[in-house]
Amino acid sequence: MSDPSSVSRRRFLQTGALVTTAAAAGLTPIAALAAPAVRRPRSLKALGHDLNGRLILPGEQGFAMAAWPNNARWAEKQPLAIAMCRDDEDVKRCIAWVRQEGVPFLIRSGGHNYAGFSTTDGLLIDVKAMNRVEMVDLKNGRVTVKGGASNQDVATALRLKRDTAHYAVPSGRCPTVGTSGLVLGGGWGFSATKSGLTCDSLLATDIVLASGHQITIDANHDPELFWAVRGGGGGNFGVHTSFTFKLHEVPDTVTTFNLVFKPEKQIELMTALQTLQLANAQTISTRSKVRPLMAGANPGRDQLVVETLGLYWGNETALREILAGLYAVAKPSVEDIYEMEYWRARDYLLTDDPVGMYQIKSSYVEKTLSEKALDRMLTWMTEWPGGSLRQDNMGILFAIGGAVQKVSPGATAYVHRNSNYIYEMEASWGPIDNPSVVAKQREWLANYYNDMQQFVQPESYVNFPDRDLKDWAKAYYGCNLRRLSGVKRTYDPSNLFSFAQSIPQHADAPGPCI
Ligand SMILES: Cc1cc2nc3c(=O)[nH]c(=O)nc-3n(C[C@H](O)[C@H](O)[C@H](O)COP(=O)(O)OP(=O)(O)OC[C@H]3O[C@@H](n4cnc5c(N)ncnc54)[C@H](O)[C@@H]3O)c2cc1C
Repeated sequence: MSDPSSVSRRRFLQTGALVTTAAAAGLTPIAALAAPAVRRPRSLKALGHDLNGRLILPGEQGFAMAAWPNNARWAEKQPLAIAMCRDDEDVKRCIAWVRQEGVPFLIRSGGHNYAGFSTTDGLLIDVKAMNRVEMVDLKNGRVTVKGGASNQDVATALRLKRDTAHYAVPSGRCPTVGTSGLVLGGGWGFSATKSGLTCDSLLATDIVLASGHQITIDANHDPELFWAVRGGGGGNFGVHTSFTFKLHEVPDTVTTFNLVFKPEKQIELMTALQTLQLANAQTISTRSKVRPLMAGANPGRDQLVVETLGLYWGNETALREILAGLYAVAKPSVEDIYEMEYWRARDYLLTDDPVGMYQIKSSYVEKTLSEKALDRMLTWMTEWPGGSLRQDNMGILFAIGGAVQKVSPGATAYVHRNSNYIYEMEASWGPIDNPSVVAKQREWLANYYNDMQQFVQPESYVNFPDRDLKDWAKAYYGCNLRRLSGVKRTYDPSNLFSFAQSIPQHADAPGPCI
């Protein structure tokens, strides 16, 4: 009787030889793997046969939709096939298959990775259909969700039952962002300053490792890996099939606000917004930005408006007292302030689900963006080279102090615990913009980002990844990088989980964090 493991090994080695030959010939491995038309469909067919979910091949019903990433910039890249997993067994089968066949692969949950790290020309292992909220254990204050659950899946499951509606998991703004990607990279949301990041509420997670084994990890079981997955970023150590979170009790009512000011006094307004945020570090959460009124190149400063969207964990009267300093600078021309039930407030704060083509860069602001820094930011905005879209996200400050800073930088892999803001810079374009327009926008973004580095920490948020970021591993992980590399060597010794910015197995970096 033949030994199945030796067959697997032989196939793996054959494929490895193919990949090496391809590399020598200057081909990408996948191009080489695509070449022998006889072998590829047969093994894919076997995988499809084994799955409880569905293997979708190019041209088959649903392929285009399943392949489409949130950032359409990466949509031209077509997977060899998409494995829509139905359960944990499917995930294990996929991992066994990619190991055996040596085929490149990436994992996808919500598909919102900015830099295309869930878009591949190999096998796309998609867990989106595994989206059940499995268990709400109010006695122990925890909820378990499957790896494909989105922000909205989790919120809806808690909200719609009378006994669970008083509890929430801190999550992000976008309903369709996957819990997987969100929590593995950290997880900012309007609850972060009060209740911490999404990863700070993670109690346990099930993960299928490169070895094919599935384990449950928590503070007592494989604690090093559990440390690493709280901020180490998606796609690095295995495929997560479920997450258990601590539940946070929410008040009956909170107050939301959206304020838009006339296009003047931008520096004073952004300064006042930062002041009020820091003075109320845990009770308020602001996402403040400056944006042009219209699309078009070189908007003047008289075209740039300040806007803030936020959540206050108190009533309207108390919020209005906090806003007094801001209103002393200027009264908003749009003022929406609503005291309302917690879940309605969450709906109000949701972002729509933008799809487009974009590049995003992020930095961390230790204390505040100074007046000088804000002045530079405005100058860069006026140098926008133009394109078809209005640029709503040229410069945003997401408050990320408060409870996030109560955890030390080395306690989890999410290292950015000494900052008050994530600072996002973005360029976005549409299909009508030709390549030279896009090139100018990206050059503008690079120059703007580089110039602003004098005012910010040399750090970047791994959930806002950027392929052009130099020294990305240090920027994402800082003094946690060396320790993360050690975890990578232990749990993924063959570097199976590998992509352009996956955690390196060796890092010449200072650390560990103290
Ligand atoms: C419109 C929009 C709004 C956003 N809003 C916020 C926000 O409010 N707060 C915030 O912090 N971030 C926000 N983000 C960023 C978001 O958190 C990250 O893009 C996140 O990684 C997306 O997770 P995903 O599962 O949707 O994406 P995916 O692209 O599916 O996955 C992201 C990464 O995780 C890996 N991965 C996915 N599933 C698994 C799994 N089961 N096991 C292991 N690895 C996996 C992927 O391979 C990829 O590397 C937003 C992004 C967008 C596009």
